[in-house]
Amino acid sequence: MKRQVRHQTTLRHELRAEMPLGDPYAEAERPLNPAVCTDCGAVFKNGQWAWGTPPRDAVRTLCAACLRVRDQFPAGHVTLRGPWVDSHKAELCKLVADHEAQTNRERPLERVIGIDSGQHSGLTITTTGRHLARTLAHAVQDNFEGRLRVRYEADDNLVQAIWSR
Ligand SMILES: [Zn+2]
Repeated sequence: MKRQVRHQTTLRHELRAEMPLGDPYAEAERPLNPAVCTDCGAVFKNGQWAWGTPPRDAVRTLCAACLRVRDQFPAGHVTLRGPWVDSHKAELCKLVADHEAQTNRERPLERVIGIDSGQHSGLTITTTGRHLARTLAHAVQDNFEGRLRVRYEADDNLVQAIWSR
């Protein structure tokens, strides 16, 4: 886990070095003009992303979520671990899918990038948005108790949640 994060931090710095204008994901999160994502069809208008019909003057772009999926560069990591997790993976994956679907209706840029069931044990869920990582971790705890720790890494604009049971 630690090694993976370090690798991504390095990657992030490389991306920054290539793009002196700033964080490409932050820019894609808040375009200057009304926009429509050419991959997922999400629409940016009146300062927020939503599903719907794009305005006529919408600029064609790639939203931050599609950019993160393409780059495999998550904004959130939720790690579930412990013996209970290994015997309830199907139940946990269903909760992840339901929570994602519910969140994504109102927040198009909040998506699950992947669920890694690991070679040994546990589950790691990566997300395009920090909000989804945080609320997902809390949903797991609300439903199944256990122990939760959520950390926000300001430097990397990243949410890391670790839940164990
Ligand atoms: Zn998109």
